[in-house]
Amino acid sequence: MKLKELREEVWQANLKLFEYRLAPLTWGNASGFAKEEGIVAIKPSGVPYSELKISDIVLVDLEGKVVESHLRPSSDTPTHLEIYRAFPEVGGVCHTHSTYATIFAQAEVEIPCLGTTHADYFFGPIPLARHLTAEEIAENYEKNTGKIIVEKLKGKEIMACPAILLPGHGVFTWGESAFKAVDHALVVEEIARIAFGTLLLSPRKEPISEELLFKHFYRRHGQKAYYGQTKGGNHD
Ligand code: 13P
Repeated sequence: MKLKELREEVWQANLKLFEYRLAPLTWGNASGFAKEEGIVAIKPSGVPYSELKISDIVLVDLEGKVVESHLRPSSDTPTHLEIYRAFPEVGGVCHTHSTYATIFAQAEVEIPCLGTTHADYFFGPIPLARHLTAEEIAENYEKNTGKIIVEKLKGKEIMACPAILLPGHGVFTWGESAFKAVDHALVVEEIARIAFGTLLLSPRKEPISEELLFKHFYRRHGQKAYYGQTKGGNHD
């Protein structure tokens, strides 16, 4: 992907975060990765979405060195970079403090797969990372946040469950592109809201069966997927 296109997509992806009401004021951030160039485009730190211009999007390399910008990159850039470095299949990362996902994160409860809305996108519960130690908070906080995400996901099929909760913090999502990462942030928020209500009415509700989870996930993903339209015509 050309850097001009990447910058445009990352700008639009960040505006979607605001439009979807996942990130008010200056909360949250989205980034995208141009693999061939080894460049990440990311929201500048502390810039309100209402003022965000395409030229404000910051370009950094995988070590975090700013290669083009008049602004500072998101304070969460080192977390995004840890995810890109560990998982080459990831093309976009997103962070929000969206309300219901953050309720689960603060309560330190994984989001269980209670229905097919969840199973359509995530193969199993949305996991919860461990706490950072005092030392990990004091030194390189954002980089260490990325490290505990990677630690939790190592060896997992990360594209089958593209989200993780951070205790006492919020949620990170990812995907093939910045747009996909933002879509996943929207879905996590919706399934968290539905799960919250479900558990309120029925606190001991069990996750759906393995069969239903398998059916719903794999009718949309993988070689045997049949949901939606064939390539080129698929709107998902
Ligand atoms: P930035 O404005 O630095 O991206 O920070 C937003 C945020 O949500 C911090 O967690």
